[in-house]
Amino acid sequence: MYFIVIMAFAFVLSEGLPPEQFNLFRHQPVAGAFAVIVGQISMIVATAWLGRLRTLARLDHTIEGHEEAADRLSATHHVILWMLAITLTLTMVCTPWIPLVRRMDGLARVPLAAELVILMPFFAALGLAWIVLYEPEVRLRREARALEAAQQQTVSEPPDSSLGSYLVDKFRHQVLIVAAPMSAIVLVKFFTNMLKPQLARHRIEWLADSILGCTSVVVLFLSPVILRYVWSTQPLPEGPLRERFKGICRRIGLKYREILLWRTHGMAVNAAVMGFVPPLRYILVSDALLTTMRDEEIEAVFGHEAGHVRHWHLHFFGLFALLSMYVAGGVMELLLLTPLRNDLAMMNLIALSVLMGCWLFGFGWLSRKFERQADLFGIRCITPDVQNCTTWCPVHGSPPAAVASNGLCVSAANIFGRTLLKIADLNGIPRHAPSWRHGSIDSRCNLIEQFTVDAERLRKFDRLLWWLKAGLLILAVVGTFLAVIIWYPRIAPALFEALGWSRHGHGPRGRLFPTN
Ligand SMILES: [Zn+2]
Ligand SMILES: [Zn+2]
Repeated sequence: MYFIVIMAFAFVLSEGLPPEQFNLFRHQPVAGAFAVIVGQISMIVATAWLGRLRTLARLDHTIEGHEEAADRLSATHHVILWMLAITLTLTMVCTPWIPLVRRMDGLARVPLAAELVILMPFFAALGLAWIVLYEPEVRLRREARALEAAQQQTVSEPPDSSLGSYLVDKFRHQVLIVAAPMSAIVLVKFFTNMLKPQLARHRIEWLADSILGCTSVVVLFLSPVILRYVWSTQPLPEGPLRERFKGICRRIGLKYREILLWRTHGMAVNAAVMGFVPPLRYILVSDALLTTMRDEEIEAVFGHEAGHVRHWHLHFFGLFALLSMYVAGGVMELLLLTPLRNDLAMMNLIALSVLMGCWLFGFGWLSRKFERQADLFGIRCITPDVQNCTTWCPVHGSPPAAVASNGLCVSAANIFGRTLLKIADLNGIPRHAPSWRHGSIDSRCNLIEQFTVDAERLRKFDRLLWWLKAGLLILAVVGTFLAVIIWYPRIAPALFEALGWSRHGHGPRGRLFPTN
């Protein structure tokens, strides 16, 4: 979902859409755009409705029925995601929707107004699909909690989400997480665009894009603080649990600003970390995680999140983002050498597609590798708490081989795998369902199992991750170097001139000694 929201904002931020040759409705722009929009919303709602009927039909309080219902709902979500992505692209690239909105009276003067109207059909389709799928989703989770409680012989704590709070939570967790920082960037673009004519007079239009770039970086750094308030959170109350978390953080040397309780009306069994630097880093644990999981399981989830921090995953994602921009920029440079150089809209669209491709395939793959590395950290994090283990455990068995092989504790791996499966079940996610950022639960559990018995494979994985990160770092340095080589000669002369400096550094020109 995040990917599609990022895509939506990328379309809004790119200029010149739709390219003339892709515009299917040159002769009837209004009727054409509206027909496509109404058609896409109806199709998505109809698909959601079908998924709703199929899911509810299988919920019969049996485990088999529950699993099949979860399968059907998950398939519905996937189909809807694809439909959203395709219809969004169609609306932005093949209909004159964007220029139609931008030409509306009054919208251009209000920051963000045109952008919000452009995204309205997308949000409408998404919101209606959520409304239709509310009942099967909540019922699936209620049943999951009841089945789990029956197995564990405990009392279940069902989610208490009304339709209103469900919609607000969905919007917060799936849209605002991306949209809040992105809107800040769109807002800055609104003002830098206003500055452009003035900058053009001094021949420094590129300064507008530099300001936009710098503020994007600042927004990215501050986004944990934005998200803390975009989501419903509060500091985790003092008590044994908080003390335990603090203890783990001390043990593994994890620094943070606050541990937050993340309120989801009992819907999400989840945890997260956000923030590049300790003063702006938050650790979030959801309400349902604390009410449904045992202490050792919560600790395993916490260890996984800590793994993301300790292995610098967020920072490497930042490097990846930078690299993807360089790749898109490089493609732009190459296009300037082709006959397409006169077609700005087409060039923008190609660069945007390359950027999207990098993220869809490259980021997805990298993220799945990082998830597995965080899993391994989670297992190692709970290992010191394991009291009794098997004799063939590389850590606790005899003779202990862990120090040499850096192997995994069998019992800790077991607890961790069980925790993953339990979270998937409680969240109503089928174990085999693919996931762009995380990979399927089955694949994660299988890999943990293989790493536990095959120390060589584990070492290979650790090496792969080491090289991956080194590669990202080297490519980022090389990319920056190339970017400077390409851009410096274009920017420097105009910059010196604008500052009143001659190019060869002989000092201010025409200011100290006015010649009029
Ligand atoms: Zn993770
Ligand atoms: Zn062990």
